[in-house]
Amino acid sequence: MTRRDYQDPTYKRNRASILAGSPDCHWCGKAKATQADHLIELDRGGDHSLENLVPSCGPCNAARGSRYVNHKATQRIAARNHAIGATTVNGLLDRQNPHTDHDIPTLFDQ
Ligand SMILES: [Zn+2]
Repeated sequence: MTRRDYQDPTYKRNRASILAGSPDCHWCGKAKATQADHLIELDRGGDHSLENLVPSCGPCNAARGSRYVNHKATQRIAARNHAIGATTVNGLLDRQNPHTDHDIPTLFDQ
C-alpha cells in the first residue's frame, strides 16, 4: 500500500469508523485495534470499503502483511520454476513422507 492509498478519503473515513470505540483486534482478539487491515489487499483488487476492512492491532497487521509479501514471492518463484520446468519444493516434500516405510506392524512386534 502506498502513501497515497492511506490518504484516500474513503479509507480515512472507514478506518475511523471501524476503530471507533476501541475495538479488539479482529485477528488475535487480545490487543486493542489501532489499525484498519484490508482483508483483500489493494493490489489484489481489494478496496477501502467497510466490508474489506477489519480492526487490527499493529503486530497482527504487520504479520499478515509480511505473510502476504512472502506469499507473493513464493508464487513468483513457483511461476518461474514452472516456466523452466523445475520440480517444486512441495512436490519434493510429498515424495518424502516419513511414514511411508515405517509404522507398518509386523509379526515380529509381539
Ligand atoms: Zn492482533
